[in-house]
Amino acid sequence: MIKQLLDCSVCLQCRGCCRFSEGNSIWVPVLSSAEQDSVSKACPGEGVVAGGRLATVPAPEEGLHYCVLFSPSGNSCRLYSRRPLECRLYPFLINLNPDNGRVFLCLDMNCPFAAEHHKDSSFREYAGCLAEYLNSPARLEFFRREKRLLQSYPGEMPEFAEIKI
Ligand code: SF4
Ligand code: SF4
Repeated sequence: MIKQLLDCSVCLQCRGCCRFSEGNSIWVPVLSSAEQDSVSKACPGEGVVAGGRLATVPAPEEGLHYCVLFSPSGNSCRLYSRRPLECRLYPFLINLNPDNGRVFLCLDMNCPFAAEHHKDSSFREYAGCLAEYLNSPARLEFFRREKRLLQSYPGEMPEFAEIKI
């Protein structure tokens, strides 16, 4: 289980997550095999998985798509306790550096909380604990099995620690 860095109250006031400019965006969470089974079983008949990612639906706001599990009325996740690893990690990302083929724990500075607090000692301490967890033997084995989770995100982002997969 990953301890959460952000208090829920911060994210409930934000409009940054769970919305995408394209329905098939790289930012739509990609799911491990177990996560695909888990969310599909939790939402039978809803078609919540598409192409190994969470499905999206057109949003009322022009040009936006919501994660299929997003609840606009509460600005919240319908499956919060079972949300996938990518959602638990964000604003941290597992990023495959296309220049050297190495995998890093990175931070998406588009998250306003990350942009404001990434230099705080508590933030950096959390990143260190997260890197240690992701480099544990069980997690490394998981990433070796689930290579689809290793994506190269667009844009520059700080690399906190290497994940030695
Ligand atoms: S962008 Fe950051 S602060 Fe906003 S909802 Fe996402 S994780 Fe929370
Ligand atoms: S699974 Fe939940 S937290 Fe993750 S993108 Fe969808 S609505 Fe957001």
